[in-house]
Order: sequence, then C-alpha cells, then structure tokens
Amino acid sequence: MPNLNFEFTEEFALKMDQNDPLRSYRDQFYFPKVNGRDALYFCGNSLGLQPKSVKTYLEKELENWANLAVDGHFEGEDAWMYVRQKSKPALAQILGAHPHEVVAMNNLTSNLHFLLVSFYQPKGERTKILCEAGAFPSDQYALESQVKFHGLDPEETIVELAPRAGEHILRTEDILAKVKEIGSSLALVMMGGIQYYSGQLFDMKDITAAAHGVGAYCGFDLAHAAGNAPLKLHNWGVDFATWCSYKYLNSGPGNISGIFVHERFADDQSLPRFAGWWGHDEGQRFLMEKGFIPMHGADGWQLANSNILALAAHQASLDLFAQAGMEQLRAKSEKLTGYLEFLIDEISGNSGILEIITPRTASERGCQLSLLIHKGGKAVFDSWYAHGVVGDWRNPNVIRLAPTPMYNSFLDVYRFGKILEQSLHDFA
Ligand SMILES: *Cc1c(COP(=O)(O)O)cnc(C)c1O
Repeated sequence: MPNLNFEFTEEFALKMDQNDPLRSYRDQFYFPKVNGRDALYFCGNSLGLQPKSVKTYLEKELENWANLAVDGHFEGEDAWMYVRQKSKPALAQILGAHPHEVVAMNNLTSNLHFLLVSFYQPKGERTKILCEAGAFPSDQYALESQVKFHGLDPEETIVELAPRAGEHILRTEDILAKVKEIGSSLALVMMGGIQYYSGQLFDMKDITAAAHGVGAYCGFDLAHAAGNAPLKLHNWGVDFATWCSYKYLNSGPGNISGIFVHERFADDQSLPRFAGWWGHDEGQRFLMEKGFIPMHGADGWQLANSNILALAAHQASLDLFAQAGMEQLRAKSEKLTGYLEFLIDEISGNSGILEIITPRTASERGCQLSLLIHKGGKAVFDSWYAHGVVGDWRNPNVIRLAPTPMYNSFLDVYRFGKILEQSLHDFA
C-alpha cells in the first residue's frame, strides 16, 4: 500500500473522509446507539448494518404477495420462480465468478453439508480433509459429522494445520507443504477464505492449485471474505465455496447464504448430490415427473423454493455493492484498516497491553484486525464498549475490529483511537 502519511488528528481523518469517493454510502445505513450515542460500529464481520432501503424492497414483495398471491410465482417482472436470477450479477462480481456459478440459497452450514456431499467422497486411501486449526466451530462440526457419516474416524481423517510455535498465522508455504505431504491420501482441502479469529486472508489461488496438484478437491468457507476481500473464484479454479449474507453483505440477521460451484461441474452428473425440485430443470419442474434432471451450474444444487423475503433484503444490499463496486470498496478498505493499524501502533506501541495478530500486509487480510489482549482481558473490551465501540470479543482473548469500507469513516477510526488512548492509561 502507498505510504499515506497517516496522522493521529481529527483534521487528517476529516480530510480522508472528504476525499473518499464512497463517503455517501454511510448515509444509506442505520447505525445503532450505545448509551444514547451513535455507536462506533466495527462489527460488520459479525452482523452488517441495515441498509435503509431494505424496508422498500421487503414492502414490494409483501405487496406482490397481497395483490398476486399464488400468481406471484409467475407474474410480474419479479416473478418469484426466477427471482434468484436478480442476485446473480452482483454475487458474481463479489465472488469473482460467472453468474451461472453462483446462486443464493439456504444457510451457510446447510450449504456446507450439501457441498460436502458432492465434494467429499472418500475412496480407498484418499480420505483425508485438510483444514486450518481452530476453524469456525460450525465448520468443524460439519466436517466431523460428514466424516462419521462415511464411517470414518474424524481424529484420523481430519488434519488440522496450526501456525508454528509462537506464531498466530499460517504460513502459505506450510499449507502447501502439508498438502504435498498428505498427497494421495488427501480428498479435500476445506478452509476459511479469511480465518474468522485471526483475520488472515489465505492464498486461495495457490492452495487450490496445490490441492489439485495431488488430486484433491478444494473448497472455501467465505463467511468472512464475501463482500470484504477481492475474490476470483473462477480464475483461481476453486471447486466450491459458500458464504453468508449477514456479515459483510449486510442482508440481515441469519439471512440467506449462497454457493459457488465451478463451471467445470456445471453439467457434471457424476457428482453425488442431494437433490430437490428447485434444482430440477426449470422448464420441466412443474410437470411433476419422476427423474431428477439437474439445472446447469450452481442452480442444480438448489433444493427448495426460493425464500422471497430473504432474497428481497439481500437484493437491497447487493444493489449497493453493485453501485459501489468491489474494487472501490477494497481500495478504501486497505486505507481504512491501514489507518486503524497505524493508530493502534502509534498509540499502544510499547504498552504491552495488546498485539495485532492479523497479517501486516494488506494482501493477506480483509478489513478486520484481531487484537490479542495481553493485559486486562475482557475488561478492555467492556471499557471500549462503554464508550460506544462495537467490536466483538472472541474467547479466549481476542478483540476483533472490522472497519467496513461501505459505511465506516476515517473519523470513526480516529474516534476509536482517542478511546484507545484513554483506555491505555486505565489498563497500564
Ligand atoms: C459466521 C460463520 C458461520 C455461521 O454459519 P451459519 O450457518 O450462517 O450459522 C459459519 N462458518 C464461518 C467461518 C463463519 O464465520
């Protein structure tokens, strides 16, 4: 990143905001209040803020339901039967995919299971799954239960790769070496795209190539990467991925997930899959006949009716992403997180209270910084919260702060710096 000569002054932060081409997007979101004041909201990694436009998008579908009832499936420009098509262009841009490689459906963990049905097929000695140690619990449970479902022992089958002693992030060279080492026993590499705890953005391109090099499939959980980091799933050759829409994608609590399936599988009928009528050939779906014929691409993995209200809220946010553009968002994100990093270093440098464990290079992280708290424990987090800082605490001792380029400002980050400065006195 270019040296921006960051300064710990309000004047500097305001100047950065003035020069920010995305500054107007902030007004399109509702901010929560903490203790009666507008929060400094750095928790888009957990739940993104509500776009003000969501209400209108939802109301439109409620009207369609009221006025058209069952005919809404086929009538009007937003006929429910085809409404998922609307989300594809924006999702394709966010994921670096072709529109037919992505589809919005289900929830993340459900999708992970369905994708594992297709892409985890242990055979002979090729049974092992490689993932990062300390993966998000839901992913751990999904992998473990899939392994058991195939009659295998999770202890022997799942290889969890941890950082070297004394280090907090995985070295790419170690991941690639592990893939080679497991070699012909490796069935699948399944990792987070961005590690939820450390904020490390993995080199998905090289990891995918390494997995393919030993004949394994490679998939990513992009819960923390979608709408945050630049992704090129198609070009990287990733086999499959899933994500959620309620974190960086601002689509509402628990809202719809999505899947990516690389186009090389678009018409692959040899992959096992759990089928449902919404994945069946659209032209023949309502003939209600026997014999599943999967749709082309990711759509063929759909099971059930699209959740129309969920998709409406999702679309409100996706339209903002399409307008703002991932490239612009990322350019701002690197500066915004760079500013947060600068302030933390500047203010807490030698205090011994906290340590940034997220990679120091922009290309190896998204917008989140994870702070390992050495002194004060959760009381540090609580004191920040009392001053209106909404981040999150993750056991055993990490605070995650995620300034998002869509709605956070440089002034937000500066204000956090002032609160950090004060709290360092309190915890020294
Ligand atoms: C947030 C998150 C989940 C949550 O899964 P849901 O099915 O949406 O509840 C799963 N995996 C990772 C890596 C996450 O960050």
